[in-house]
Amino acid sequence: MKGLPLVEVEKKSLDSYVKIVGKKKIEEIKDFSSNLEGYKVLHVNSTAYGGGVAEILQALVPLMRDIGLDAEWRTISGDKSFFNVTKAFHNALQGMDIRLNQEMRDIYLKYNKKNAKNFSGEYDFIVIHDPQPAAIYHYLKPYPGIWIWRCHIDLTNTNMAFWNFIKPFIEIYDAYIFTLKNYAQEGLGKEKIFVFTPSIDPLSKKNDSLTLNESKKIFENYKVDTSRPIILQVSRFDPWKDPLGVIDAYRIVKKQFPNVQLVMAGSMAIDDPEGIRYYKKTKSYAGEDPGIFLLSNLDGVGDKEINAFQVASDIIIQKSTREGFGLTVTEGLWKGKPIIGGNVGGIPIQIINGVNGFLVNNINECAEKMIFLLKNPEISKSMGEKAREYVRNNFLITDHLYNYLKLFKNLLKTD
Ligand code: UDP
Repeated sequence: MKGLPLVEVEKKSLDSYVKIVGKKKIEEIKDFSSNLEGYKVLHVNSTAYGGGVAEILQALVPLMRDIGLDAEWRTISGDKSFFNVTKAFHNALQGMDIRLNQEMRDIYLKYNKKNAKNFSGEYDFIVIHDPQPAAIYHYLKPYPGIWIWRCHIDLTNTNMAFWNFIKPFIEIYDAYIFTLKNYAQEGLGKEKIFVFTPSIDPLSKKNDSLTLNESKKIFENYKVDTSRPIILQVSRFDPWKDPLGVIDAYRIVKKQFPNVQLVMAGSMAIDDPEGIRYYKKTKSYAGEDPGIFLLSNLDGVGDKEINAFQVASDIIIQKSTREGFGLTVTEGLWKGKPIIGGNVGGIPIQIINGVNGFLVNNINECAEKMIFLLKNPEISKSMGEKAREYVRNNFLITDHLYNYLKLFKNLLKTD
């Protein structure tokens, strides 16, 4: 087959979102999109499954099609050595102290060049997601279309050796999208910077309504006792998601609530070879505690199961120490739960401390807030109602689509 591998997506209809966001908003999006009909859009990322970007594209691409854009999603290919290197890039760009060596540079460029060779077709807008495929454009330029780099990670404390290495490949894009204004690095043309957040799809299997009873049954399939309190963190097994800190916080809670259980659900994405390693590390840290459940897609945990876990848990946390945005926070808030989240990156734009959740800076604070919510289910419930409305007003896929349309129109004007 010619071109980068194509990802198949389900059909979606913007009209079905009327019941979530109202007719006015949907009409507004449709009116706005009318003169973009037929424009060709390509999204490129590194995995069709696992992690936030894949999650977004599953909804965004079909909705772009529904409003008349000719949208596609393709992925790049690489072997283990490439994904090891890109994971190191991901970590370093988020601030980890890693040395950049020549072998890493060579592997990164070799696979970007290979993928550039496989690239075919012409598009009006090409959106390249994250650092993994970022250098493709360097190998293709000059190439028709408006090229956009969408950065999903937090670059505020970036490792400069890595940033300086990829900067020349990024600078050549026509526009960049960041989740927060302060993620954009110095030296990128200000007029090319656009800022908007990711989003969740309220009608996806992961977020569509599920009854408490049905959700509890799903938990019970995994031997989790729904008559006892349940703490949940949904995350890849990754150092920035602090799974070991989650276990420490749970152990503090357990002193006051001996019955409490901890569920950590984490999918293994193909672009994340560190996942299995970190899963093993977490498992050994959890020891023989029968109250800790480490579950993943390898145990059959898919979107519906994640949904059920979020619906039937008493406490949801996202104890990250770095987080570009944190879709798991959005998903939890949408389930009508206050979220206890690390006070980092994109989490503080989602959690208003004390209103729809709590922002925490360390293990003790995390444990303290979990104990507070376990002791105060009524407060938890009323915070949860605010949580859902906050997501409805700020972080749904419909707004995200609108932001892309505005960006496209803006770029057509300046092209
Ligand atoms: N996810 C999942 N199964 C898991 C773990 C994570 O489906 O076992 C999903 C999660 O629900 C969310 C996405 O992966 O939609 C993670 O996005 P987030 O922005 O929280 O973090 P990232 O993985 O992109 O760093």
